[in-house]
Amino acid sequence: MFATLSDRLADTFKNLRGKGRLSEADIDATAREIRIALLEADVALPVVKEFVGAVKERARSEEVSGALNPAQQIIKIVHDELVTILGGETRRLRYAKSGPTVIMLAGLQGAGKTTLAAKLALWLKDQDKTPLLVAADLQRPNAVQQLQVNGERVGVPVFAPEPGNGTGNPVDVARASIEEARRRLHDVVIIDTAGRLGVDETLMQQAADIRDAVQPDEVLFVVDAMIGQDAVTTAQAFLDGVGYDGVVLTKLDGDARGGAALSIRSITGKPVMFASSGEKMTDFDLFHPDRMASRILD
Ligand code: GDP
Repeated sequence: MFATLSDRLADTFKNLRGKGRLSEADIDATAREIRIALLEADVALPVVKEFVGAVKERARSEEVSGALNPAQQIIKIVHDELVTILGGETRRLRYAKSGPTVIMLAGLQGAGKTTLAAKLALWLKDQDKTPLLVAADLQRPNAVQQLQVNGERVGVPVFAPEPGNGTGNPVDVARASIEEARRRLHDVVIIDTAGRLGVDETLMQQAADIRDAVQPDEVLFVVDAMIGQDAVTTAQAFLDGVGYDGVVLTKLDGDARGGAALSIRSITGKPVMFASSGEKMTDFDLFHPDRMASRILD
């Protein structure tokens, strides 16, 4: 994960080893290399600029603390700034005060939504929740069945339109699922919505209609990290079209660069809440900015 960036940064810091103090030229050269490393990682340009600016300013102005040599000091600054662009604090799920907590998933087809829905359900189950999965993706053939298969894998029931009624209205299905959750005492409802290959108006409208009908406690935008900073464009389109509270990054295991993870928070202002990093149902957890920063600098 993010191997290219890790290697690049490690090389940059190597050049600073053994230096007694950092000259202005050292700081400039380091900043330049960090900039290249971030651009190669496919981080969005405004984020790169902000990041490098912050590192430079702190490197110039901060007193070198007694315990750290200059190289370590720079590493600490880069670590802190990585934590900042990754979102700072871990953002946890907000549960409804009463009634079931409703989580709605939105994103492009292929982003990994259906897989993610089941992973999230398993994760919640492990925390003694009693989730209900809802198949409101009635667009893609097999989406309902795929969710049912995944639901079975993690032992979580799936609410879906009756067979033969597969072309039903996803808004009705979503609405009915909340009633079902109340009746059967599910405390979390996870609604999988339809995705398209590209952003389109019908898709946005449908997601917005479901949102209006069920008033979710959390809308999560699911995005494939492997698409790099293209994720930012899609994220912005969904922010304008549907709106969401947090982001889920999927396929982090296949992302050698990190551009999506490092750009999305700064550009959208929305926190990355979860990360999905593999084909196994357990390859999923809360997204911890500090741990991610440490991994990058490991
Ligand atoms: P959806 O169209 O958004 O519902 O996407 P799917 O859940 O069907 O996922 C699309 C493909 O990505 C499937 O082949 C999944 O197995 C795969 N996938 C989903 N999440 C991950 C992940 O975290 N890592 C990897 N390597 N593959 C994933």
